[in-house]
Amino acid sequence: MDISKRRGIMYPSFEIYGGVSGFYDYGPIGSRIKQNIEQLIRDYYVIDEECLEVKCPTLSPEAVWIASGHLENFTDLMTECLKCGEAYRADHLIEEHTKKSCEGMHISQLDDLIEKNRIKCPKCGGNLDKVYNYNLMFQTFVGPGKDKESAYLRPETAQTTYLAFRRLWEAGRKKLPLGVLQVGRSFRNEISPRQGIIRLREFNQAEIQFFVEPDKKSIENFDQVSKIKTKIATKDDKEFNISLENAVKKRIIKIQMIAYFLGRSLQLFEEMGINPKALKLRQHKDEERAFYSTDTWDIEYISKIFGKIELVGVSDRTDYDLKAHMDLSKQDMTVSYEGKKFIPHVVEIAYGIDRPFYCVIESCYREEKDRAFFKFPQEIAPYRAGIFPLVRKDNLPEKAREIFELMKKERIHTFYDQTGSIGKRYARADEIGIPECVTIDYETMEDNTVTVRDRDTKKQIRVGVDELCEFLLK
Ligand SMILES: [Zn+2]
Repeated sequence: MDISKRRGIMYPSFEIYGGVSGFYDYGPIGSRIKQNIEQLIRDYYVIDEECLEVKCPTLSPEAVWIASGHLENFTDLMTECLKCGEAYRADHLIEEHTKKSCEGMHISQLDDLIEKNRIKCPKCGGNLDKVYNYNLMFQTFVGPGKDKESAYLRPETAQTTYLAFRRLWEAGRKKLPLGVLQVGRSFRNEISPRQGIIRLREFNQAEIQFFVEPDKKSIENFDQVSKIKTKIATKDDKEFNISLENAVKKRIIKIQMIAYFLGRSLQLFEEMGINPKALKLRQHKDEERAFYSTDTWDIEYISKIFGKIELVGVSDRTDYDLKAHMDLSKQDMTVSYEGKKFIPHVVEIAYGIDRPFYCVIESCYREEKDRAFFKFPQEIAPYRAGIFPLVRKDNLPEKAREIFELMKKERIHTFYDQTGSIGKRYARADEIGIPECVTIDYETMEDNTVTVRDRDTKKQIRVGVDELCEFLLK
């Protein structure tokens, strides 16, 4: 967090007004890295998996959330202190106190546990009020006066993708499976977010909806991931170290499409720079699974600081959502396909962006005797290279600017730095994980070559200016 704030990766929002928990800014460096992470997800889904991409509003009318069930079910159990008014997530408070899980418990059971264990307000010792369901959506109104309409900031992108299903069906030339990606912001009014960027109130998602035939949740390309061996924990707490192929054969993961996208996600996270040894597949227990899903699997990252972090959820959402919107809107969501008429089922892959971002930062951080740096993969790093004149005289800065302009023309994202010793400039570049530093020295003026220093090995080689673009692109 020290480097992150100092070097403009990420920092709390509204700092000058004291900050609001659950909101973070991506700074100049962080924005580049986030953009690169999103681009990698796009490459995987829009190019490799042939998905369509959409962008929908973040604000939607109440009807959407009535149909989806979020107005009724998207809640956390909350209790307030009767003395100081502090709000707590009742289940978390009890779990901290009793060290036992209260996943899936009802309001009355939680009330009983608070009474039986004499749990008080941790802040002031006051008595706690009855537990109640607190809806996590931010409500607002569209329009003024008597015509104003109740609306909510979306708590997930998925619903907004479903709404235009008829149009997507046409745009996708009426073929199944039909994959649709949406990258964008969502909002949850979390009760007391205290885990930095792991639990945000305004956050970024990349969610993919695969519309499929109800009885066809298999996939042709499965062999692309079948040999991947990974740690798996099932809903009845069994643990395996097993290949995805065997996990499907032994019916540990029952739906092949789910196994496939878990495998693709493992590949994606590794390509982002997340340590694969810290990743684990975990099936949701019956009581924790979202109300719309029949089977859900997460990939979790085991963080040194925050413990378990969910990076992606892959769910079989069946026809729940399309059916719900069909019922309330009275618009037909059925398709005629290969002689059958049905409402498509949905297999969803839901990525957070902020959490993988954090895990990339944690996984790539290296400390050595004389330096700290980020070992970002090339596609994730905020810049491709730094361009430095060795000294600020003898026309070296002019030559360096010339090379910098050349890179701009080729749309290779580099930055120019001429202040401080060359050692300090290398250190600054390492600190934000720039893979290569290009130094223009006296030799450059003679033979038109530059020194290229590698971040990870610190090795230096000479490269001709004419080959520099090609070298950096490779
Ligand atoms: Zn209190």
